[in-house]
Amino acid sequence: MVDAVHKTDVTTPVVTAARNSTTPDNASPNWRTGRKYAVRLWVVRHSRFFEWFYGRFASAFLLLHPFWKFVGYQRAERPVAFVERHVKGLLFDCRMCGQCVLSSTGMSCPMNCPKQLRNGPCGGVRADGNCEVEPDMPCVWVQAWKGAGNMVHGDAILTVQEPVNQSLRGTSSWLRVTAAAAAARSAAKEKA
Ligand code: SF4
Repeated sequence: MVDAVHKTDVTTPVVTAARNSTTPDNASPNWRTGRKYAVRLWVVRHSRFFEWFYGRFASAFLLLHPFWKFVGYQRAERPVAFVERHVKGLLFDCRMCGQCVLSSTGMSCPMNCPKQLRNGPCGGVRADGNCEVEPDMPCVWVQAWKGAGNMVHGDAILTVQEPVNQSLRGTSSWLRVTAAAAAARSAAKEKA
């Protein structure tokens, strides 16, 4: 009896918290488990291609800076974030943290770590390379190390990432990176 009460008191809030914190915007934990993380593992296996593609994609977005400026970055935020959420949700199980670090993590999204660790794995990786919290899920940091090994700039995985700024959740990383790159380009031009 005492055990039953103890279990209810202790485990219920933990399960609820885990679901809230690890559920991507557009995918339930069941759905993710059902497809065996196949797409995200495929992406990691092809991280070199995605590194190349992302580089081209970022350049194309930067080329469109005059258009984003004309439309207004604020006004573009909603539709671009919508597209980003769905494209990256499909490929990376993206949770729209708003501060994408995929190019530094072997194309394995660290926000899929139930502990949301951004600088390497915890000490609980299982012997089979799976997560200690979600035993069916390959540890995102084991995958990150594999993906980084395939990439031209894979050593970016050694860069220490800043803590997540929760106020940016749900916003578009694509637009943020583009605006920052455009500002840096203008600053460099002014200096020259
Ligand atoms: S790091 Fe953030 S933006 Fe990038 S895929 Fe993961 S949740 Fe999405």
